[in-house]
Amino acid sequence: MSHDSHCAFCKIVAAQIPASVVFENQTSLAFLDIGPLADGHLLLIPRDHYPALVDMPREESTRLLSVIPVLGRALLEVTGAEGFNVLINNGTAAGQVVPHAHIHLIPRQSGDKLGYRWHVSSYENDRPAELALAYQEALRKHID
Ligand code: AMP
Ligand code: ZN
Repeated sequence: MSHDSHCAFCKIVAAQIPASVVFENQTSLAFLDIGPLADGHLLLIPRDHYPALVDMPREESTRLLSVIPVLGRALLEVTGAEGFNVLINNGTAAGQVVPHAHIHLIPRQSGDKLGYRWHVSSYENDRPAELALAYQEALRKHID
């Protein structure tokens, strides 16, 4: 099992620092975010240390993601939220601060003013075709 002794979330897994744990199984752990965006904001993490989601082997990420619906149902019941966002910050540029893969589950109510502005743009000419091809080629390399 990979562990980084400097990592806050590895310390939670090893019970070296406290956390309000709400769920655990063999490979993952969920606990309350210490700086909640809304009451009941959860973090779901793999027990093993991976810097980000893209560093996880496919089977392990699948296992982790499979917990989301279960946690989501509990979140809706416990918080009385009308919905929730699943958010994964991948990399510093995307707002990732803790370099141990994690998934946010953020309770939402209509009109709660959470969220960010969705600046929609559009494509020109053959850019969509170019991108689709590039994605297909890259995915042939990355898919196992
Ligand atoms: P991110 O920006 O996606 O890396 O989010 C990291 C999240 O971890 C933040 O929302 C923090 O509030 C939360 N966090 C950091 N340290 C702890 C901790 N010891 N216990 C619970 N949540 C934490
Ligand atoms: Zn870690």
